[in-house]
Amino acid sequence: MISSTPRAAPGPFAVIGAGPAGLLAAETLAARGGEVVVYDRMPSVGRKFLLAGRGGLNLTHSEALDLFLTRYGSGAERLRPYLDRFPPEALRAWAADLGQETMVGSSGRVFPVGWKASPLLRAWLRRLDGAGIRLALRHRWTGIGPDGALRFETPDGPVEVPPPAATILALGGASWPRLGSDGAWVPVLEGLGPRPNALRPANCSLLVPWTDHFAGRFAGEPLKRVAVTFAGERRLGEAVVSRAGVEGGVVYALSSPVRDALARGEEASLSIDLRPDRSVADLAAALARPRGRQSGSTFLRKAAHLAPVGIGLLHEATGTVLPTGPQSLAQLIKAVPVRVVGTGGLDRAISTAGGIRFEDLDERLMLRARPGLFAAGEMLDWEAPTGGYLLQACFATGVAAAEGAWAWSRGGAAG
Ligand SMILES: Cc1cc2nc3c(=O)[nH]c(=O)nc-3n(C[C@H](O)[C@H](O)[C@H](O)COP(=O)(O)OP(=O)(O)OC[C@H]3O[C@@H](n4cnc5c(N)ncnc54)[C@H](O)[C@@H]3O)c2cc1C
Repeated sequence: MISSTPRAAPGPFAVIGAGPAGLLAAETLAARGGEVVVYDRMPSVGRKFLLAGRGGLNLTHSEALDLFLTRYGSGAERLRPYLDRFPPEALRAWAADLGQETMVGSSGRVFPVGWKASPLLRAWLRRLDGAGIRLALRHRWTGIGPDGALRFETPDGPVEVPPPAATILALGGASWPRLGSDGAWVPVLEGLGPRPNALRPANCSLLVPWTDHFAGRFAGEPLKRVAVTFAGERRLGEAVVSRAGVEGGVVYALSSPVRDALARGEEASLSIDLRPDRSVADLAAALARPRGRQSGSTFLRKAAHLAPVGIGLLHEATGTVLPTGPQSLAQLIKAVPVRVVGTGGLDRAISTAGGIRFEDLDERLMLRARPGLFAAGEMLDWEAPTGGYLLQACFATGVAAAEGAWAWSRGGAAG
């Protein structure tokens, strides 16, 4: 008779990847009484988490969970059980328990009151240490041997670790590879059976074929308080002109639909409203006033309150010949077409789309092809905009994978 009881090894649990998903998985296992070793290829932990805290650590979002879930698009239903189990309030309570109370910003985003990630990470590492969790740094995971042993590359050469009680992979995506997550796990995992979806940039910059004149003059300039529309989706915020295109919050928010349109071979053009607070009629009336002896740029700056970069963008979009009628000029200001020819590289993206497919995982986040091997965090195939949705899903899947690994190691159902 074939037993349905899993054959977990008696050794410690292995968590590979010391980012937010892996560290919370480790904490969850230790809280249940598990012995845990966390491996990471870098000399220190949580490097991307620390970078995320540089401009204000947006831990999660305060909106209602049903709305929150819609931010994950097609991944929403897959993630729902994990976010139900570990919702934004649980994350905020966890941070508060580490001495890091959170606050809700004007946009509904949630930040630690101290704003940064470093005090939170320091307190967290103290707690993990107190729970007996061991760290094995400079250990790059390279695979699993036929007997289930974990293989690592270390500065002292290859190392094999006897089969653990269960293993949780939390290796991240492939953005900002110098911080640790470089996506090199993809071929390793493919060697074990699953075929992850291709890793792609998400929340990334977009490439625009600017003229040398425009890029040379305006690279680095912010387009403040603009509205950008793509495929019927309109986002208000700030964009920044770069040499190669555009970046910034409002661009990141639209980068996934643009990326997907380009991948389908479609043309992609953003429509930038330089004065979202004014109507076409209002602008046209202001532009119909006599220009006097003012230059075109001075007139535009005064009548439409446009910054030089906005005026430059109008010239760039029209090949320098601006429409002369106030109505058509107002229409252009409200909808400057900007052709996008590509996305910025994955290496500078905020996050990664693609990764381990949910079809390859059971509800406990265990790889169907590899009993005892679980996965969590950004290496799973979901994506979301910025706003705290990324970290929230990493934490929630970290908890779920740990609970799944714990239950599996004890031969029981999830729970
Ligand atoms: C500039 C920037 C700002 C961001 N700001 C925010 C924000 O404010 N809010 C938000 O929600 N999200 C933000 N994010 C995204 C967020 O940081 C990530 O989604 C999150 O860190 C992913 O967590 P993770 O644990 O899945 O992976 P990671 O944090 O990437 O951790 C993975 C770990 O695995 C290790 N690893 C990788 N491969 C191996 C291997 N083969 N062997 C051993 N170890 C390995 C890496 O060294 C790393 O430590 C930001 C990202 C960036 C780049």
